[in-house]
Amino acid sequence: MGKLIHAISGDGSVSCLAVDSTDMVAQAEQIHVTSATVTAALGRLLTAASLMGVRLKGEKDSVTLRLSGDGPAGAVIAVSDSLGNVRGYVENPVVEIPLNRYGKLDVAGAVGRQGSLYVMRDFGAGEPYIGQTPIVSGEIAEDITHYFAASEQIPTVCALGVLVNTDLTVISAGGFLLQLLPGADEDVIAQVEQTVARIPHVTKLLSAGRSARDIALMALEGFAPRIIGESQPEYRCDCSRERVERALISIGRGELRQMAEEQPVTEVDCHFCSKKYRFAPQELLRLAEVN
Ligand code: ZN
Repeated sequence: MGKLIHAISGDGSVSCLAVDSTDMVAQAEQIHVTSATVTAALGRLLTAASLMGVRLKGEKDSVTLRLSGDGPAGAVIAVSDSLGNVRGYVENPVVEIPLNRYGKLDVAGAVGRQGSLYVMRDFGAGEPYIGQTPIVSGEIAEDITHYFAASEQIPTVCALGVLVNTDLTVISAGGFLLQLLPGADEDVIAQVEQTVARIPHVTKLLSAGRSARDIALMALEGFAPRIIGESQPEYRCDCSRERVERALISIGRGELRQMAEEQPVTEVDCHFCSKKYRFAPQELLRLAEVN
């Protein structure tokens, strides 16, 4: 289970959300059998989604991040509910590319340096709000920071990290999102950036046994931080047979009849959790009659 901490500076001008997403990212790796670089890319986006999910106000709200770059991984998608529970998938789970010039997993090389980050906030009812900003680095944290600055006008510092073992298992994953709250002095962000520049990388801290709470307090050091919330988010898919049936109905009567005729069993896999749903021809014919 993950650990997500919400802290705020003593004067209420800066908020910090920090998460240890190791378990969530480890589960994503198990479900999608991703190569190391893709585990890092998907893991960073899942971590960002979790941090952005808990910012949502309504219980039924959700946020979807879609990174559509020109890299070999293809589109990377992460969805979070308002408690920070996430699910995600990537178009091409296996991308083998060399380490980047810093000797690190080349996330930008897998995602691509050109393309768009889409942020869709769904409020349960009515039209979702969709923001789109260009990819600025493909390393994801910078892309999230840019999204907040350009689309929501919120000065933000974002850090995301995923550390992968040579056997492809996840050692640690986490991140934080520091944001200026309305009415805060713009100089504060410069002070926050200085503080953040001094603290070690998130995965280094987590691997050394530091908690999300430690990271939140370190990121707000000197700002008299206090913890105002915490939760235990996890990798969670909300798929169901009913949902899959609705999706099948939407593909149309003719198509369903054809599938029923051609295949003794039609298998539909959930993109997010790989759960398999099987439909016999007579079930498909029944769905064909629904619309
Ligand atoms: Zn599922």
